[in-house]
This record gives sequence, structure tokens and C-alpha cells, in this order.
Amino acid sequence: IEEFCRADSTLGTAVMVGSFGTDLIHMFGTEEQKKEYLTKVIRGEWISSGAFTEPAHGSDITILDTTARQDGEHYVINGTKTLISNAPIADFTVVLCQAAPGEKYKQTLFIVKKGTKGFEASKIEGKMGIRASPIGEYSFSNVRVPPENLVGVEGMGFYHTLEFLDLGRVAVTIQAVGMAQGALDRAVKYAKEREQFGRRLVDFQVIRHKIADMAIQVEAARLLAYKAAWYVDQGRIIPELTSIAKTFATGIAIRVIDEALQIFGGYGYIADYDLERFYRDVRITPLYEGTSEIQKNVIAKSFLR
Ligand SMILES: Cc1cc2nc3c(=O)[nH]c(=O)nc-3n(C[C@H](O)[C@H](O)[C@H](O)COP(=O)(O)OP(=O)(O)OC[C@H]3O[C@@H](n4cnc5c(N)ncnc54)[C@H](O)[C@@H]3O)c2cc1C
Repeated sequence: IEEFCRADSTLGTAVMVGSFGTDLIHMFGTEEQKKEYLTKVIRGEWISSGAFTEPAHGSDITILDTTARQDGEHYVINGTKTLISNAPIADFTVVLCQAAPGEKYKQTLFIVKKGTKGFEASKIEGKMGIRASPIGEYSFSNVRVPPENLVGVEGMGFYHTLEFLDLGRVAVTIQAVGMAQGALDRAVKYAKEREQFGRRLVDFQVIRHKIADMAIQVEAARLLAYKAAWYVDQGRIIPELTSIAKTFATGIAIRVIDEALQIFGGYGYIADYDLERFYRDVRITPLYEGTSEIQKNVIAKSFLR
């Protein structure tokens, strides 16, 4: 993800998001679900999505309006999910539903396939950046799903989703580091080539120090990102560490890309140069998979225990 986003913030993100939601199946799904869904996503034949956000529930998904009611052996889903990555193009989604109306945290995850009766997707236009990965809305109108589509433990979907998001936050942290490094690379190259007042930009100490400051920040963000990823590799997710890494790296990435754009002068503002796109793309990173404010709530809760 880091190298993809370094090479291209937009395509790198599309590659990263193409399999969004599948970690839920990997972590909590049955062997049959893994075989049916993960194999196709890994082969690049199917695109997935993960649907948690609703019009009235964004940061707070402890209670949802989308419901799953049992009807015989099947479940019947009703509701709306919004701001969902890949919704207009995904072959299936993993959707979080309220299992017991009005009861906090009592939720269940289901896989719903494209083409299922009553399940519709529409595209949301006018997105600021990351325009190679579309977002959209899902509507569920009496969508019947069989019991074999239930992911994980019935009624535990909220907790499964929290674990999934802890993992996803590491990915967003790495995405931000890649984008920041990509902007730094471009700024260094440009500053070596561009001349003003008879000197290259890199010969002005102000520019050299800007580049040094950017390099310091990117390296610090990368180390935090790798530390969080290392714990994931050890099978130990530490939520507050993941939140620290995401908040730090996404903030750094925005600042570094802003500074890189400044080094490009007016050309940084023109779409012919990548910086204009990096600047818009990076803005998503402190927003999705938990905003920076929510990450700080996680960090504070852990330290004030
Ligand atoms: C491009 C894009 C792709 C997305 N992809 C997906 C996806 O694939 N699946 C999915 O389910 N969702 C997705 N989302 C939704 C995203 O996760 C939410 O936008 C995000 O969780 C914030 O929810 P909200 O927009 O409703 O903001 P709100 O929750 O309404 O928050 C508004 C503001 O209030 C702050 N705030 C809220 N609560 C608190 C609090 N307790 N303390 C302090 N501050 C608080 C927030 O930090 C924010 O600044 C996507 C969004 C975008 C823009």
C-alpha cells in the first residue's frame, strides 16, 4: 500500500480499497465464505465493500437504523447505508445491521450479493479526491439473506467491526505515509530542477530546511506506522497505538503534501502536476475508518483508564 500510494495517491487508494470489508470474512467468516468470496477478490475477479455508515450514524455506530430481522431460517434486512466505498461497483458487501432494535452494540454482520432482490446501489457524485474509488449509497428493502451469509457470531457484529477497524486504521496510516513520501519525492525532484534568481531552489536554505523538515516528519510517521503494523503481524492489535499512529501519520501527510505543493509554487496548484491531486486525495485519511477526533477519544480513554 505504501509504495502504491507513493507512486500514485489515487490509484494506490483504489488498489487498497478494492478489497475493503473482506478482512471481516478473513477474521470471522466460515471456511465456505472464505472460499466463495476471498478467492474471487484475491484473483481480482470481484470487488468488495464494507457498509457501516448510515445517514444518521457515522462516528457513532453503537446503534443503527438498518435492521436484520429473523424470518424462519432467513434474515430480512431493511435500511440505508451511505458514503460506502465501491458501492456502485462492488460484487458484494459485508453490512452491519441492528439485530435487536434500540439495543446498543447488539448487531450482526451479513454478506449481501449484488443482484439480491431489494438491494440497490447508487453513486454519490462530487467527491473531493480519491476519484478512482467511487462511493455510493446502499438501500435495503426487505432483502432476504440465508443464514450461511451471517459473518461471525450473531449479535457480535459491533465488536467484530471494531476489531476490523483497528486493522483498517493501520492500512490508512500506511496509505498516508505513502502519499507523504510520494509528495516529498516530487518536491525534491522539482527543487533540484527549478531555478529562480539564478540558483536552483535546493540552493536556498529555506527550501533545504523545508525538505529536511518533511523528511523528519515522514520518517517519524513511517516508524509509528510500522510499529502498529508489526503488532498486527504478531497477532496483537493495540487500539490506542493504532489510533496514535493514524492520527499522527494522517496529520503529517496533510502538512507534508501542503509544503510540497508550496515548493512547486503556482504549478503545485495546477492539475498537470501530481501535487494538486495528492493534496485532495490525502484529505480523506483523517476522516475515514474513524476521524482523528474519534482516535483521540480512543487514546485518551486508554491513558485515563
Ligand atoms: C470517501 C469516503 C469513503 C468512505 N468509505 C466508507 C466505507 O467504505 N464504509 C463505511 O461504512 N463508511 C465509509 N465512509 C464513512 C466514514 O467512515 C464516515 O464519514 C466517518 O466515520 C465519519 O462519520 P460522519 O461523516 O457521519 O461524521 P460525524 O460522525 O457526523 O462527525 C462529524 C464531526 O464531529 C466529530 N465528532 C463526532 N463524534 C465525536 C465525539 N464523540 N467527540 C469528538 N468529535 C466527534 C467528528 O470527528 C467530525 O469531525 C467513507 C467516507 C468517505 C468520505
